[in-house]
Amino acid sequence: MKKRFLLTYFVLFCLTISMTAQTPELPNNRNCKVSLDMQSTDSVFIKERKELEIFTKEFATKEMQGGNCYVIPVVFHVYGTTQGGMPVNDAIIIDALDKVNQDFHGLNADFNSVHNNFLAIRGTMPDVVFALAQKDPGGNPTTGIDYHPVTAGYANGSGYDLAIAADAWDNYKYMNIYVMNDLFNDAVTTNSGYAYYPSTSMSNNNTARIVYNGAYLGINCTWEPEFASTLSHEFGHWLNLIHTFDGGCANPNDNVADTPPCDYLGSSYLCHASASSNSPLNCNSNLINAENYMDYCGGQDGCYKMFTQGQATRMYAALQVPSRQPLWQFSNLVATGLDHLCSSSGISPIENGHIQLYPNPSNGLIYIEFDDLSLENELVVEVQDLLGKIVRRYTIKENSSKKIGIDLSEHQAGIYFVNIHLKEGTQTYPLILQ
Ligand SMILES: [Zn+2]
Repeated sequence: MKKRFLLTYFVLFCLTISMTAQTPELPNNRNCKVSLDMQSTDSVFIKERKELEIFTKEFATKEMQGGNCYVIPVVFHVYGTTQGGMPVNDAIIIDALDKVNQDFHGLNADFNSVHNNFLAIRGTMPDVVFALAQKDPGGNPTTGIDYHPVTAGYANGSGYDLAIAADAWDNYKYMNIYVMNDLFNDAVTTNSGYAYYPSTSMSNNNTARIVYNGAYLGINCTWEPEFASTLSHEFGHWLNLIHTFDGGCANPNDNVADTPPCDYLGSSYLCHASASSNSPLNCNSNLINAENYMDYCGGQDGCYKMFTQGQATRMYAALQVPSRQPLWQFSNLVATGLDHLCSSSGISPIENGHIQLYPNPSNGLIYIEFDDLSLENELVVEVQDLLGKIVRRYTIKENSSKKIGIDLSEHQAGIYFVNIHLKEGTQTYPLILQ
């Protein structure tokens, strides 16, 4: 006990020294915004959002078998090496991204001190890794950190699209993060982050992004180290997570079943005072998940600790959509210099190595290859649309060809499932038809 006290004292002491030396302006905590409002009049975006919600619900009911390796190549575009009085350099960015990976993997130091009510629903994504690219779009070695002169405003809707696209690295190969101090070019330098949900039109335009304030990266958060996980919050949005409070208490609130309704009204509430404390409560007098990365209070109040399992499933679903799925394909990891991080091929997703489905996404024609082992018995292949309708069905016998081609070109573009019924059970692959 005494040891713990001494350690606490030491940390506080260091923090005091550190704050005296360098302290950025405190952030405007209620400032994280996402793209939904801005794009709500875009009919293509609305249609895609709707389809993605249907896909996500369907995905959650499937047993997606593991063995995947979701490495996401990341590039940070940095606009100014001092932001809000704080340094923004390679070491700061490497630390900040490391913190994001820790949060996604449940390796954050306070992961085990989550409130009792939420311990059992903590969700992690151990096979998802955000990694700085090691090859640039020209195939040259890179640190994955690209420095530019100071600029502002890249979170300001579509007003800066040309400049953003000019600086972007191919959105289908890299996750692009823009680090600047004044996100909206309104002379406010205390906004922390702005993220955009998956959108093929943005990826097509090379404007998909997170915009983040360098003053609040990783160890720059001297006044509250937990605020560094605000970057994890933005990564959550990039993988289609909604704020836990965005839908209020009305269904479907945040479209995640295991996060309690949260009627956040803009006033501040504190984190759970202890693992058994029963505050704060929501409109139904149930405890809210204040320690969730997609809430707001965790950063400011020092209790960002967890995603839920439902949120992890929603993010896994987002990894399958056209604007995200190409990033983690093995061929792209080769192109971005990250193939050493994955030993599996990029065919999406392989669960036992005996079956391959490609290309995915497809323009209409897909191939499924089996090896002798998978053809020990007759098997059935079905292609199913989002509404559950079987649009193709084949029976493959032991003496059949080990490779079948399926022409889906007359079907509408969108998300489908390929169900392969084997003797040991059904395996399901998401398929994107372009
Ligand atoms: Zn947010």
